[in-house]
Amino acid sequence: MVQDRRAHFQPVYESSQRDRHAPDDEQLSRSTSVYHRASPWLVMSGLPYDVWTILCTDWQQMVVNLRTEKRPFNIHTVLRRIRLEVKQFADAAMFDLAEQGYATPFHQLAACIISVRTRDEVSLPAAIRLFKVAPTPEAVSRLGVERIAELIRPSSFYETKAYNIRDLAARVVSEYGGELPCDFEVMTSFRGVGPKCANLTLGIACGATEISVDIHVHRVTNRWGFVRAPTPEVTRRALEEQLPRKYWVEINRLLVPFGKHVCTGTLPKCSVCPVLEYCRQVGVTAHR
Ligand code: SF4
Repeated sequence: MVQDRRAHFQPVYESSQRDRHAPDDEQLSRSTSVYHRASPWLVMSGLPYDVWTILCTDWQQMVVNLRTEKRPFNIHTVLRRIRLEVKQFADAAMFDLAEQGYATPFHQLAACIISVRTRDEVSLPAAIRLFKVAPTPEAVSRLGVERIAELIRPSSFYETKAYNIRDLAARVVSEYGGELPCDFEVMTSFRGVGPKCANLTLGIACGATEISVDIHVHRVTNRWGFVRAPTPEVTRRALEEQLPRKYWVEINRLLVPFGKHVCTGTLPKCSVCPVLEYCRQVGVTAHR
């Protein structure tokens, strides 16, 4: 019922006047509790049902209004709320892989190649299967392409990826003495490795401060109205301008599960989203 009413409210995009007067969490919960306290008294007052309904609807409408009022965007509050929200979901695959002991640049980069256009639920077990059989670049380079393909098989384009991983392992052994250097140019010189994988590897395995923008980070930050960019690469450059450096690595870890479970590609769950008041919902024409 509440969701239906919300459809009639236009988001307030740039109204700084209204933003200044937007309620904080305490005011919002006070209004809600006033409404709940008032309802029984209205019933007992003997007012005609129609009058009671109008009064209650007005109260309810006011509460909905307060909830949909837009506040000035605050990246610190938004990320703090999302950090709490995603605790219930599985960690993003590359961070999970590092937690499981595969945190070297080689492991991260090879796993990122496997993850391209493949769901985390498929790519993470595939990477672990490969590393259990061949835990080092030397061991992977000794495997045939067919064997690598067999190990990572459920992932999409597994034959091409197997070829790229074998090539990566062989070059790491022959050109870098078995240790992949923490270098963006070197990483992106391998087949199947783009800026997203290189930056994610640099962030997780090398402790570098880099932003990795995948489709989730791109979609969510643009829906917020925090950046306005047509592609993930342009989003990455915009985030480098605007996002405080302390969030550069963490933003991927937060927005991958958030984008998978809350701010989904189609029908995002705006009605239960913890950052609705801050989000301009750019391009969202329908939601749950
Ligand atoms: S779910 Fe809706 S309100 Fe939440 S971030 Fe996505 S578009 Fe914004």
